[in-house]
Amino acid sequence: MKEKLYRFLAGRYGMDDLNKFLLALEILFLLLNFFIPNGILLILFYFIFALYVFRSFSRNIVARSIENQKYVRIRSKITHTFKAFFKSLKDRSYHYYVCPKCSQIIRVPRNKGMITITCPSCRTQFDKKS
Ligand SMILES: [Zn+2]
Repeated sequence: MKEKLYRFLAGRYGMDDLNKFLLALEILFLLLNFFIPNGILLILFYFIFALYVFRSFSRNIVARSIENQKYVRIRSKITHTFKAFFKSLKDRSYHYYVCPKCSQIIRVPRNKGMITITCPSCRTQFDKKS
């Protein structure tokens, strides 16, 4: 029995950051469904659960890894945008921007007019008002 389980799980994708996010989303929809009984929330829960199970037991590891990389890139862009926004609010002498290519947070001095910013890690150039 144990050997059959090992054979079944061998080569399967398993858990990653996107699956953790999907799991958290499932729990959120399930909890919301308890407080607000709604068919749409339950359908969303089942849809995300099916996606979670599909991704976990998938043998196409390359495709799942690419999906996870896209998710991590989008998540880091969102979190870095918020971090840069709050740092800009706190710091009165510097402005914080996020690189559009690699999501690196870049600090530039304020009140210098339109400037071209070069990202120190990926060398991407973009124009911003400082
Ligand atoms: Zn960059």
